[in-house]
Amino acid sequence: QKNLIWFRNDLRLYDHTALNEACKSDEDQVIALFIATPEQWSNHFMSSKKISFLYYHLISLKKELLKLNIILHYYESTNFLKSIEYLMYFCSQHKINNLFYHYEYENNERNRDCLVKKQLSQQGVVVKGFHDKLLVSGQYIKNKKNQTYKVFSFFKKKIIENLQYNIPLCFPIPSKRKLNKNSCSHFFSSEKINLNFNKKIFPIGEIAAINRLKIFCKYKANDYLLKRNFPFLDSTSMLSPYLSLGIISSRHCLIKFLKEQKNISLNILYSSSWLNQILWREFYYHLLIAFPKISRYQSLSLWEKNIDWSTNIKYLNAWKEGNTGFPIVDAGMRQLNKLGWMHNRLRMITASFLVKNLLINWREGEKYFMSHLIDGDLALNNGGWQWCASVGSDSVPYIRIFNPCNQSKKIDKLGMFIKKFIPELRHVPNQYIHQPQEWSHRNHYKIDYPAPIINYNDSRKKALLIFNKARLSF
Ligand code: FAD
Repeated sequence: QKNLIWFRNDLRLYDHTALNEACKSDEDQVIALFIATPEQWSNHFMSSKKISFLYYHLISLKKELLKLNIILHYYESTNFLKSIEYLMYFCSQHKINNLFYHYEYENNERNRDCLVKKQLSQQGVVVKGFHDKLLVSGQYIKNKKNQTYKVFSFFKKKIIENLQYNIPLCFPIPSKRKLNKNSCSHFFSSEKINLNFNKKIFPIGEIAAINRLKIFCKYKANDYLLKRNFPFLDSTSMLSPYLSLGIISSRHCLIKFLKEQKNISLNILYSSSWLNQILWREFYYHLLIAFPKISRYQSLSLWEKNIDWSTNIKYLNAWKEGNTGFPIVDAGMRQLNKLGWMHNRLRMITASFLVKNLLINWREGEKYFMSHLIDGDLALNNGGWQWCASVGSDSVPYIRIFNPCNQSKKIDKLGMFIKKFIPELRHVPNQYIHQPQEWSHRNHYKIDYPAPIINYNDSRKKALLIFNKARLSF
């Protein structure tokens, strides 16, 4: 038999369900394929940093697969529909009997896979899809009415019950296969590769991701609860770019964390704040699966369509560029623009500011994040935005509006983070860093930094009125 593994957002060898299944019989020949779809990526607002990160990981994956005598082929198509045509051609050229892949849950991806299954089956290829992306497959996490949980705490309780009895196992890397006679493959040329992300912050390769997980679980996980909200501290795992391209699996994260804690009791699953975040990831994916409208950028709350959003382009641009005059907001946005990554607390503050203070449609923010994040992930990005905009299924209440100045004092008291990303403010004394304009005015010291583009208190009052009106008129 000849087996093909179609790699998509799962660029790893360790704990890879489809790879394991394809390699089950020593007698079978196994080859691998990746099909790039730049036009589709651009329709999905995939950032150039994420694309670059992906290409570097393809090179790394190719090398690692070669050690198992599995050849990775590469082809560049345009969109998903065209990629199916190529896949069919490839299967017939290489006389493939079985196709292995992992399910993906976004709408276009699901439609693509339905077509693949239909068309390849007609061609005589057996199509084998596997659930792999999540800790627990959707069908097991339903309420008593067999519906998807819409509230995180209930979801968490159920998933932990489930995990406690079925702690998932990780698949080992399959053993080396017999030498493949046809060893040549079409791969991309080096022109494709444009390194535009910071390799020191986001090192390349599955091994780098595994090391990062190990170090986090060993040295940082225990302090996570205490330190996670301070953006200047390097206290979170920074595994998100790897999780979003499947360079590491969430099962692996869970198992490694539990092993390091040497305690697999229900209690640790409940109390660990890091696992809590991994479960938020899980929750947002369950919502994405249950509510296809999420893939169409629609909010889960129907009353949202009554919100009278502002179309102030100047405000939107100031937010994008990190020039709102609110230092913590601007530092967050500049971190995003520079690194393609932003600390979670800052994602919340900047998102809240756009939606509740500038009153700009959350979809604008969602799009901007997606097109700049190295870890852009529809389920998590959309989930985060709907949460911050109070329009999702278990969001922050709309009356809760982050006050950037108070947040800043709490999470960056001395302004170390602000000064790192806004060098114009480095001469401002620490105690004034949260409202530098006041200090500059009082001391007649000119700073090259904008005045606040809005009055926080007025914008807060306006937001409350507009959100309230939208809810009442629904
Ligand atoms: P850690 O704190 O180490 O957490 C470990 C993992 O848990 C993360 O890698 C991530 O997979 C998951 N996780 C952490 N926080 C959250 C959360 N709030 N919601 C869901 N899952 C979480 N994350 C993305 O990976 N891609 C996105 O496109 C994305 N967009 C976001 C947009 C907004 C408006 C908000 C508020 C959050 C968004 N997040 C997104 C979630 C979160 O900010 C990042 O996952 C996190 O900052 C990544 O850093 P880390 O890997 O160090 O996380």
